[in-house]
Amino acid sequence: MSFIDRHLRSFLLAELLQGMWLTFRYMFRPSVTLNYPYEKGPLSPRFRGEHALRRYPNGEERCIACKLCEAVCPAQAITIEAEPRDDGSRRTTRYDIDMTKCIYCGFCEEACPVDAIVEGPNFEYATETREELMYDKEKLLDNGARWEVEIAQRLRADAPYR
Ligand code: SF4
Ligand code: SF4
Repeated sequence: MSFIDRHLRSFLLAELLQGMWLTFRYMFRPSVTLNYPYEKGPLSPRFRGEHALRRYPNGEERCIACKLCEAVCPAQAITIEAEPRDDGSRRTTRYDIDMTKCIYCGFCEEACPVDAIVEGPNFEYATETREELMYDKEKLLDNGARWEVEIAQRLRADAPYR
């Protein structure tokens, strides 16, 4: 661009007018932004969010304490202790996940033979302290109860591809 062109463009505010023209054109296009948190975008059934432990419809815990999730976890974020019950069934007495270690790889969910531990659709669980991210069995079962409908839908949608 020549010296004269450059100064002419500056004098006539050409770049400012170009910018305003672009803004004007976009005023008539559909909005692509969402008013979060009141509006949320779609989530894939494979989205890996906050962990949850699920129960069967009769209320029984799904987890059979096989410890496959604990063994496969690359971050060693899962700690399980288990004891047999009086009826001989095996259930966990402790199921902890250190969410500050978790890398959300989804291996625990893939390893679980009974779809007990899952990564649900919840991504809004920021905390103010690290301690709040040390999840125990009670917290994980609570998550399972709260998100069971969404988790079951998500597993059904993804089942043909597993
Ligand atoms: S998502 Fe991965 S890192 Fe997190 S608890 Fe499961 S296996 Fe471990
Ligand atoms: S959550 Fe699944 S993989 Fe982990 S101990 Fe329980 S049954 Fe086994």
